[in-house]
Amino acid sequence: MNLDALPRFPLAQLPTPVEELKNLSRQLGGPEILIKRDDQTGLALGGNKARKLEFLLGQALQQGADTLITLGAAQSNHCRQTAAAAAKAGLRCELILNGKKPEVANGNLLLNNLLGATSHWIERSQRAAELRAMDEALRAQGRKPYLVPVGGSNGVGATGYLVAMLELEAQLRASGRRVDHILFGTSSGGTQAGVVLGARLAGLTSRLHGLSIDKNDPEHFEYEAEVAQIANDCAAYIGSPERVTREDVNVVYGYKGEGYGVVGSLERDAIRLLACSEGIILDPVYAGRAFGALVDLIRKGVFRRNETVLFWHTGGTPALFAYAGEFA
Ligand SMILES: *Cc1c(COP(=O)(O)O)cnc(C)c1O
Repeated sequence: MNLDALPRFPLAQLPTPVEELKNLSRQLGGPEILIKRDDQTGLALGGNKARKLEFLLGQALQQGADTLITLGAAQSNHCRQTAAAAAKAGLRCELILNGKKPEVANGNLLLNNLLGATSHWIERSQRAAELRAMDEALRAQGRKPYLVPVGGSNGVGATGYLVAMLELEAQLRASGRRVDHILFGTSSGGTQAGVVLGARLAGLTSRLHGLSIDKNDPEHFEYEAEVAQIANDCAAYIGSPERVTREDVNVVYGYKGEGYGVVGSLERDAIRLLACSEGIILDPVYAGRAFGALVDLIRKGVFRRNETVLFWHTGGTPALFAYAGEFA
């Protein structure tokens, strides 16, 4: 296993800072709270997809691709950062976005346009067929498309978070800190897969909590198995003998609210709380909901006062502006 030998296209500002949330910790009555600022990865306003895209672009360029195709929700951060990665690497970018084209392109949509990506609006049920058709049509035109999976979540993309765990371990070692719990939003699984596998390789024994932002327990009991599969694909990709099972994947449910992208009081209150106490901005879809979950767990006394918890800020901030009406 030699991580330095893997194809990688530099996109992210690394390492991202680890900061202490002293005001918030005082306000909530402990535990000690740290934040890992992956909203500061750069690449068109930051976020967790920058780390995955370094390895996905590495593979795309190695394969001689000239076009990236990817898909996501209307306000997908993944699509915005893929568009930025394509621009930087000199590739074309085709985005397949769920639903109907809105009248005003705000938030991530505004950025997709500025980054020169082409957007195709498709009902979600038609997505897979559209993807195949587009891939074939581009090949017929002599182009070389590379398909970036939803959320950048496959074994290649997860490598970005495996490396991120090595980065975090080095930062904690240098500052002489111990972290008891690491919490982050989880949705398409690539982040969690990399974190789980990376924790093992880095020798980090912190308890890992993926906070599901879009699933409830009974409907998605297969999610842990999906994450384990991505982690094992990642292990195979990097040439590691490690294996992950679904029991190694801890997902916390109960915070889906009214559904993906529907803003409720959990997100609204959490976003205001972190902004007013620490001057840090969250988005309502992912990091705001995950942070709301963390605050709820703290208030329920799940962590001891003398423990240290680390919240991984996975970005998403540009989407906030598309939800301005929710904060009126
Ligand atoms: C994509 C995304 C996540 C979830 O990461 P997955 O790897 O898809 O599980 C969390 N936060 C933000 C801001 C995201 O854009």
